[in-house]
Amino acid sequence: MTRRTAIAGAETYFDDGGFQSDLAALVAFETESQNPAQAAELSRYLTEAMVPRLHAMGFETVLHANAVAGAGPILVAQRHEGAALPTVLTYGHGDVTHGQAGQWRDGLHPFELTEDGARLYGRGTADNKGQHLITIAALEAVLRARGALGFNCRFVVETGEETGSPGLAALFAAQKDALKADVLIASDGPRLQPETPTMFMGARGCLDFDLLLDLREGAHHSGNWGGLLADPAIILAQALSVITDARGQIRVAEWRPNSLSEEIRAALRDLPVCEGAGPAVDENWGEADLSPAERVFGWNSFAVLAMQSGIPEAPVNAISDKARAHCQLRYVVGTDTEEILPALRRHLDAHGFAQVQIRASEAGAFSPTRLSPRHPWAQFVARSIEETTGKAPHVLPNLAGSLPNDIFVDHLGLPTIWVPHSYRGCCQHAPDEHVLKPLCREALGLMAGVFWDIGAGDAPDAERR
Ligand SMILES: [Zn+2]
Repeated sequence: MTRRTAIAGAETYFDDGGFQSDLAALVAFETESQNPAQAAELSRYLTEAMVPRLHAMGFETVLHANAVAGAGPILVAQRHEGAALPTVLTYGHGDVTHGQAGQWRDGLHPFELTEDGARLYGRGTADNKGQHLITIAALEAVLRARGALGFNCRFVVETGEETGSPGLAALFAAQKDALKADVLIASDGPRLQPETPTMFMGARGCLDFDLLLDLREGAHHSGNWGGLLADPAIILAQALSVITDARGQIRVAEWRPNSLSEEIRAALRDLPVCEGAGPAVDENWGEADLSPAERVFGWNSFAVLAMQSGIPEAPVNAISDKARAHCQLRYVVGTDTEEILPALRRHLDAHGFAQVQIRASEAGAFSPTRLSPRHPWAQFVARSIEETTGKAPHVLPNLAGSLPNDIFVDHLGLPTIWVPHSYRGCCQHAPDEHVLKPLCREALGLMAGVFWDIGAGDAPDAERR
């Protein structure tokens, strides 16, 4: 049995319609984690769709009730082959965002898989059911071809990712030993370009906060009081203007990353940032000395997501009492989460804006993570993907967006490698979510190749782990 047998087996699973019919069955579970009425579907997804299939693959499974009240259960499965073998942790989430039935294109229903040309439509096809189905099927292809994986595998399937992964960090902290592994290899998110495999090894962090001015009780007539009462909107605008300059370049010293090394710049050099979908990049926006890829993957960005003073839809002749801006910092490794707001406080105070209050968001922060593209596991997976597909993958030290990768890094101490199988136009979280059939077929083959190679004995060795 050979590498080629495993890859061909995964591709045959696609060609024979197995992938499509299995994905249809997964999509039919209405696993909306944002909808409390569907709580029972979350358990049913794990017990009816995941557990039997993983048992058939020789996994033992434990279903953990969520420590957070109202949140869905978390499945931990493992297949143990030998103490001397490498251990791979993989991950998927069975929950989806609201189905938004009625808002999809004619003839499409979120929980019925629909084929249309090269696309398979359905809620969760891209995020994340199709992606962890590819992981499962690739592992199955290796099991069929080799009779064993050649490594130990642990598999976590949660059902609350779309509500911020409640209970996942607590479970990881409590199950540290049961989840011990050498590497995380999992799939979520989009490729940079649909035709080129992508790997990303971390994510930018994200912190939301409000800037507030609350100067007095109630609004006062702008004729009688204009010129006498301080205007909170004007003060807030001035305060924002010291956080960045007019092209969005960050002026808070501690918010300017020191982690854009030559190595990271080299890794980002040839990456496309917005091929195909979305608006054109504004060349005169952001850090002037950086390329677009460096700005979005290698640097921090500040945004005002919403701001208000008075009632814009119904203005009245009055000086407002309050102004508020909801702000966000996306940040790369090297920026200390705990120091972000204290640094802003000092910066605003130094510029005379002591009266502007800073209020951290209840949602908490995602911490940033990153792995060097030169890490042995990153190089191993990249080589494997290239051998299977004949294409050098796009390798991102970290995603521009945020995901709870910090849980894997901080609690389990793992190098993390994500191999996404969606693409930017997939409409995840919106009506008409879909995956691309050719991309799924290629993904099945390349993941079978990766898992085959790990079990072939030349995975990065224990000493280096
Ligand atoms: Zn999602």
